[in-house]
This record gives sequence, structure tokens and C-alpha cells, in this order.
Amino acid sequence: MTASEIINKKRDKTHLTFGEIKFFIDGIVSGTIPDYQTSALLMAIFLNGMTDKETSDLTKVMANSGRTLNLDMFGGLAVDKHSTGGVGDKTTLVVAPIAASLGCKVAKMSGRGLGFTGGTVDKLSSIPGYNITPDFDTFISTVKNVGVSVVGQSESFAPADKKLYALRDVTATVDSIPLIASSVMSKKIATGSNSIVLDVKFGSGAFMKTPERACELAEKMVSIGKNCGKKVAAVVTDMSKPLGYAIGNTLEVIEAVNLLKGANIPDLYDECVVIAANMVSLAKKIPLGTAVEMVKECISSGAAYVKFLEWISAQGGDVSYIENTGKFPAAAHKLEVLAENSGYIVEMDTEKIGVCAGILGAGRAAADDTIDYCAGIILDKKTGDSVKTGDRLCTLYTNDKNKIADAEKMHLSAVKIGGTPPQKTPTVYKTIL
Ligand code: URA
Repeated sequence: MTASEIINKKRDKTHLTFGEIKFFIDGIVSGTIPDYQTSALLMAIFLNGMTDKETSDLTKVMANSGRTLNLDMFGGLAVDKHSTGGVGDKTTLVVAPIAASLGCKVAKMSGRGLGFTGGTVDKLSSIPGYNITPDFDTFISTVKNVGVSVVGQSESFAPADKKLYALRDVTATVDSIPLIASSVMSKKIATGSNSIVLDVKFGSGAFMKTPERACELAEKMVSIGKNCGKKVAAVVTDMSKPLGYAIGNTLEVIEAVNLLKGANIPDLYDECVVIAANMVSLAKKIPLGTAVEMVKECISSGAAYVKFLEWISAQGGDVSYIENTGKFPAAAHKLEVLAENSGYIVEMDTEKIGVCAGILGAGRAAADDTIDYCAGIILDKKTGDSVKTGDRLCTLYTNDKNKIADAEKMHLSAVKIGGTPPQKTPTVYKTIL
């Protein structure tokens, strides 16, 4: 068997066997297959697709390409959650303590933000003292004692994905359902949870632009997870506007804390309830309807907030910032962005709003850029809201005054104001089991 024979087969639309996929992935990880051959195979997969069996085989081989975790010590209660990425997506900060407070074990590795989407690790790093790289024994003992630990994604898990992703990024092969599904699921499977809840986003701020494409990806990931012996649910959610009102690391932590303290943030609340309830339902084998009631009660009683404090404290975070969010440092500069005409917000280009937050310093354009934790946006108006000329659309926050004019232009270009209100759409489109 040679790499070029395997590329040939995929180019000619012939299905690859498990052995052929393993040969290729092993060659990528060991360095015996050069990047130009890997790039050729990626383009052949992009153009000709993969069957469910090929995609599951690719996932299994990538999951086993490095270190793997076994969380069976938690008696089947280990549950993970993954979002395909969005703008203002702080759901992990809310659902992880809810699930832990209801008896699940959340041992989660999360990514850093890149491009227009934020990353949970950056949000948590904005809490003074929070340690995102505890040693392995501390990670596991925190999950055991507190029920939740969230740490940075270690590169020792699914190293094949890291290599493939870097090549996909520069060969125009990112946007392929089998490649995205195997990339996400290989990392989830390598890190060992028994149950996995996926948040698959669609709309202007997501990889998948339409609900149909998001459902296709969600179905593929659910099927891969089940083939690998996991319990899986995928919640398909709307990212055609930012989630909640806060975008940017500290600002999002504060919004998540406010929700856990009982603030009314309808879209964020609805999405978190559905995701957390699916986590609890899968891990504890209870009906979804019962889990929804338990999750709502857990928020309203304050139990989830108490668990959040316990989690942050266990990872070294200074909880006085959570108890009094006014302690977080404020950005040196702010600017109110005002509506230039009257009507209704008919559309938001959520990706542009993510880019706007990046301009302010909340995100990274390149992997080694530093982040300004207090930079970001607080929205006043979102899709569907009525506005009058001069109304405040949002406030921009940054420590770099030179960036604020560009950010203002970007925000204004992302918000379309029209004469008739758009149709209302729910935040949670569908759940796929
Ligand atoms: N997130 C991943 O981990 N991989 C992809 O391919 C896309 C999003």
C-alpha cells in the first residue's frame, strides 16, 4: 500500500478501508507522508466526500493517534459538551456548573479562540488566578470532588487532527462535513467522556450558514459518536445573531455569572437549559422533560451559581471577582455606537461583529496574538428590535484607543436596519439524538 494509491482511490470515488485510512494517518503523524500528499488526499475528500463508515473510521484512527483518557472511574456520569464555535457563546460557563450540580462529571478540555469566534479557555483565563493548565491528577481530582474542571486542550490528544487542521486551513478544505465531523469527534472521543452534547451552530456567525447544513453536520457527528460507543445528542442552534448581549472575555464571564445569579437573558437562558438538560438526561439516563425541570430549578435556586464559585475556586480563581463583578478591571476607552436611521434591525452579520470584537482586542488574528481581556462589545439592540436614529446600538470597550473608529465602522456595517420587522426565530432549532 502506498500513499499515492490511497489518494488515487479517493480521487476516483472509491471507498477507503479502515486499513488504508490508518496507514495514511499513521504516516501523517510519524512524518513519513509529506504535506503535499496529505493535501491531495484532503482535497479528494473535500470534493468526493466520505461514507459514514469512512468518516467513523477516520475519527477512530485520529482519536487513537495520541494520548487517550478513560473516565470510566466516574461510573458512566462523565459528560462533555462541544460547540462548533460562535460569537458571544459563553454556554460552557453556564452549563458545566449546572450539570455538575446535578451529579454529572464534567471533565472538559476547551480550545482558545481564533479568528472571529471566542474560546472558553480565554474567557476563563480572564478570571484572576484561574489555572487552565493544572496537572493531570489535579484535573481528575477536581472533577471527582467538585464535579467539573475545564482546562486547555492538550496537544497530546488527537495529534493527527492538529496536523490535518493546519493543512486544511491553507488548502481551502476546512468546510467539509466529514472533515469537520471527524476533527471535532476525534478530540471528544480521545478525552473519554461517556456522553457528549454537541452545540452545532448555523447562521452568519457560524461555519454552517444554513440550518440544513448544520443538521447534516449534527447527524454525522451523532452517528460517529454512537459508532464509537458514546451517548450523543446534538442541539442545532441559531448564530445569525450573537448569543446574549456580551462579546469579549471578561464581559462574557460577567454575563454568564449574571445569568447564574438569575438575570433574564432569554436566548442565552433557553440555549443553556436545552444543552444542560441534554447533558443531564444522557449522563443520568433520565427523561429530557424531567432534566429540563431540574436544570431550571438548579438555576433559580442558586445551586448552579454556588457550584460555579466552587469550580472557579478549585482551579485557583479569585471568587471575589465573581461575587462582585465590578472588581474586574474596566477598559480604558469606550464608545457608544448610535443608529444612523430608524426602523427594525432586520439582520446582523454576526461574523463581522466577532471581527469587530477582535479589532477591539478581544480575539486573535494569529495564534500567538495577546488578548485584551476587558475588550469587547455590550449590545443594546439585536435582530428584531426597533430603533430610532441616534439610539445606542452597542457600547465598544478597548484599551487601544486607535482601534475604536475601525471597530465602530465594522459594527455599523454589520447591522442592517429596514422598514419591517423580521420573522422571529427560536434560538434552539432542533435536537438530534
Ligand atoms: N472545530 C474543530 O475542532 N474542527 C473543525 O474542523 C472545525 C471546527
